[in-house]
Amino acid sequence: MEQIYTIPVNEKFEASAEDHSLGCPFCALYNMLEEDELGLILGASMMEPDVRIKTNELGFCKTHLDMMFERKNRLPFALMLESHLTELQSRIAAGGVSSLLNPGAEAIKNLSALEESCYVCGRIKRNFGMMVETAALLWEKDEEFRKKTAAQPYFCLPHYRLFLETAKARLGKKRFPDFYKVVSNIEISYLRELTDDVSWFCKKFDYRYNDEPWYNAKDSVPRALSFLSGHIHLPPEK
Ligand SMILES: [Zn+2]
Ligand SMILES: [Zn+2]
Repeated sequence: MEQIYTIPVNEKFEASAEDHSLGCPFCALYNMLEEDELGLILGASMMEPDVRIKTNELGFCKTHLDMMFERKNRLPFALMLESHLTELQSRIAAGGVSSLLNPGAEAIKNLSALEESCYVCGRIKRNFGMMVETAALLWEKDEEFRKKTAAQPYFCLPHYRLFLETAKARLGKKRFPDFYKVVSNIEISYLRELTDDVSWFCKKFDYRYNDEPWYNAKDSVPRALSFLSGHIHLPPEK
């Protein structure tokens, strides 16, 4: 098991179990990894040549470019952009024989690959996968962790899918059905509750419901977004 992630996985599961408003524990883990990566890239890793080679080659997705921009560490960010842009010049203007025979083909190929890659996404994906695996293995081995899992508010859909997929591969035919029973119950009962809350939210637009209380519906729309696509890529803490 990936021992390094046992502590953060336990911590985030415990926090969400105790305070349901924190939502999906995997989103909290994702946000932690993302914050670390952005901090490193705008700080300690920025001048490391091997990191620079990779950032030049892989570039960044729009989400992570925007997040780095918002973090206001302008000089390291600009220095990294400078060398990325410099390298891009040769990719866009790929010369040689192939450009004479088939103009533009090389540039299209290079830029398509660049669009699909992001240095930060790649780093997070690898570590996050190990965290989800850690959670599945903890569920198998640790009674306390099983209790924490059963007390989760919900898992956002993308992380629910990944948790199921990872656990299915890791736990085997004997243990997986128990796991599935617990997590799918959490998921289905939260989805029912959320659907009711969104329905009530819609009803409150009808004047006949003016005097009725909101119950849990007031924040149901942002909660539905967090459920459907996760609560990740958060703005920097003020
Ligand atoms: Zn999530
Ligand atoms: Zn990215």
